[in-house]
Amino acid sequence: MKFATKAIHAGQNPDPNTGAIITPIFQTSTYVQDGPGGHKGYEYARTQNPTRTALQDCIAALENGKFGLCFSSGMAATDAILKRLKPGDEVIATNDLYGGTYRIFNQVFARYDIGFHFADLSDLSAIEALINPKTKLLWIETPTNPMLSVVDLKKIAALAQSYKIKLCVDNTFASPYLQQPLDLGADMVCHSATKYLAGHSDVVHGAIVTNDKRLADDLRFIQNACGAVPGPQDCFLVLRGIKTLHLRMDAHCKNAKAIAAYLQLHKKVAAVHYPGLKEHPQHLIAKKQMKGFGGMVSFSLRRDNMTAATLLMKNTRLFSCAESLGGVESLIGHPASMTHASIPYEERIKTGVVDSLIRLSVGVEDVDDLILDLDKALSKVR
Ligand SMILES: *Cc1c(COP(=O)(O)O)cnc(C)c1O
Repeated sequence: MKFATKAIHAGQNPDPNTGAIITPIFQTSTYVQDGPGGHKGYEYARTQNPTRTALQDCIAALENGKFGLCFSSGMAATDAILKRLKPGDEVIATNDLYGGTYRIFNQVFARYDIGFHFADLSDLSAIEALINPKTKLLWIETPTNPMLSVVDLKKIAALAQSYKIKLCVDNTFASPYLQQPLDLGADMVCHSATKYLAGHSDVVHGAIVTNDKRLADDLRFIQNACGAVPGPQDCFLVLRGIKTLHLRMDAHCKNAKAIAAYLQLHKKVAAVHYPGLKEHPQHLIAKKQMKGFGGMVSFSLRRDNMTAATLLMKNTRLFSCAESLGGVESLIGHPASMTHASIPYEERIKTGVVDSLIRLSVGVEDVDDLILDLDKALSKVR
């Protein structure tokens, strides 16, 4: 089956009792057994739930993976992956990382004596220099947040395999429609399904997909033992969102490309970061490993200060100032004061997060209206 067909059908069969075409929301905590042990594959809802099973199978199919596991949030999925590690183990990660991931690494798992190293992962020699016998996990985001750098997944996967280190790719920004890391050699893919997978800014949800049965068994054990499972209503919303993932992603990509081109020509804009631009430093890698360049665009202003950025953001009407991304509606964010506020100034500047950096999650509205909205707001900036 091809992608669009899987998005609509994978994991989902009409309900055998009623014929309902849509997987029901199984809002139940337990399942009646014929007698002790005489169950139908469902015993207790932390362990299994049919709405969750349908979603897990659907997300696994989209990532071309065998095993899917869903969690109550993207961070809960990340937490489960890290819980496979032991004290003394080390992780190497992208330096331009989702803030919450940086926080769970440095402020939660560092307490359990797990070591974290951050590197510019577009430079393979920088990673190799950090690898040692304690290294157990490579953690990649591509495109990265908010600079939209692209990491060569095939090369990183080959490196990880040669050192027998597990590679996890946070595929939130691309979604499985644009990029399938397992096919390129990754061991695990994780998602904040809150973003493009669900796509409508109405649910918080996470997922992991793998082809490795041992990893899947380990992660399933943690999912059940620690219990950060999603409720059936949330699983229903994500399943429903996924049915239009391919349609939404095409629209996100088309709008983002037009907005990046518009911003590039604007005289008040200093730099535009979008993997679809020929000038993007990893444009060719993006072209090779992605089906499209995504809906995220970031840019900085010639007048590089917080005031200019704030003025711009106060004057957009369609782009709403909010955290998060990947919904049908357009959002605008200011990494330096929002998502990256906890990162020290010197660190932040090093990764390119300057004071005037603006991040757009380009929605699927009419692109003419979106450009007009940015144009009016930019006219207010001196
Ligand atoms: C939002 C996000 C997360 C965290 O997911 P939640 O669903 O908010 O817990 C992780 N990684 C990336 C890239 C994200 O954008």
